[in-house]
Amino acid sequence: MSTVKRTLVTGGAGFLGSHLCDFLLAQGRDVLCVDNYYSASKENIRHCFDNVNFELMRHDVTFPLYVEVDEIYNFACPASPVHYQRDPVQTTKTNVHGAINVLGLAKRTGAKILQASTSEVYGDPEQHPQQENYWGCVNPIGIRACYDEGKRCAETLFFDYKRQHGVNIRVLRIFNTYGPRMDLNDGRVVSNFIIQALRNEPITIYGDGTQTRSFCYVDDMIEIVTRFMDGPDDLTGPINAGNPEEYTIKQLAEEILRLTHSSSGLIYRDLPDDDPKQRCPDIGLAGEKFNWEPTTGLREGLRKTIAYFDDVLTQGKCPIN
Ligand code: UDP
Repeated sequence: MSTVKRTLVTGGAGFLGSHLCDFLLAQGRDVLCVDNYYSASKENIRHCFDNVNFELMRHDVTFPLYVEVDEIYNFACPASPVHYQRDPVQTTKTNVHGAINVLGLAKRTGAKILQASTSEVYGDPEQHPQQENYWGCVNPIGIRACYDEGKRCAETLFFDYKRQHGVNIRVLRIFNTYGPRMDLNDGRVVSNFIIQALRNEPITIYGDGTQTRSFCYVDDMIEIVTRFMDGPDDLTGPINAGNPEEYTIKQLAEEILRLTHSSSGLIYRDLPDDDPKQRCPDIGLAGEKFNWEPTTGLREGLRKTIAYFDDVLTQGKCPIN
């Protein structure tokens, strides 16, 4: 019998999922990538097709999945407000039914399972920076609730499957992450600003641009995701992962304008409902348990991301689903 770890990545064709597949394949894992391509693209994983350790399955996690695996990374769910608000009922189903299905799979197979949770569980936080023991401030009936409450319910399910059925879980709360393979049309601030700057079009700042976010480069994120999965079983989390350098949205716009030498100006648009005013992770726990902290600064990460988008725009690459 093979001793190679069979690893399932749900949402494996998405931005984070595809980078995770790359990392796992480089480690010699046998990777089963599952995606329904709702907000993902086959282009993100096309380079893996020739790898004998890579398998791809079109599947929606809201339906049960019967496969034999040793570990599961649950990354399935559109993560950008534009995408997750397009079909909010489906977003809740993806989070809740999806969690039940993958947890059931973990229970049956004995696989360990890591949940890609989110800083959105803290909502519009009153504690700053956010620590894992903060319970959050979420509007349960607002336009972000399908994602926020969906992810919160998924965390509940993970801990109940552990307490009730002894499932071997890990819960990682992922803060804003950026890098190559972000979707061109997902409306995230980093991708929007870079594309607008490269096209010399106005940069759309929602609100007055004083709201803050902390941006983690994708390679740093994949590092903690995999270290957490490979870490001790009694470390369930939740653990925050993100870059604690905090910027206002206006500062981000100015940095992107500098790096792209763009002639774009700034225009101001209405702030969407329930848009968090500030967000910054306390990553003390990840540092203490996994000796981890991000090593890519914003400027370096933006340079790599700008190069990617420049390439996509100049080659007119169009992701195929
Ligand atoms: N934002 C903006 N202009 C844009 C896109 C987003 O000013 O073109 C703002 C948005 O209102 C929010 C922040 O940038 O305050 C981060 O938005 P994003 O959708 O990237 O992620 P969020 O952290 O809100 O989920």
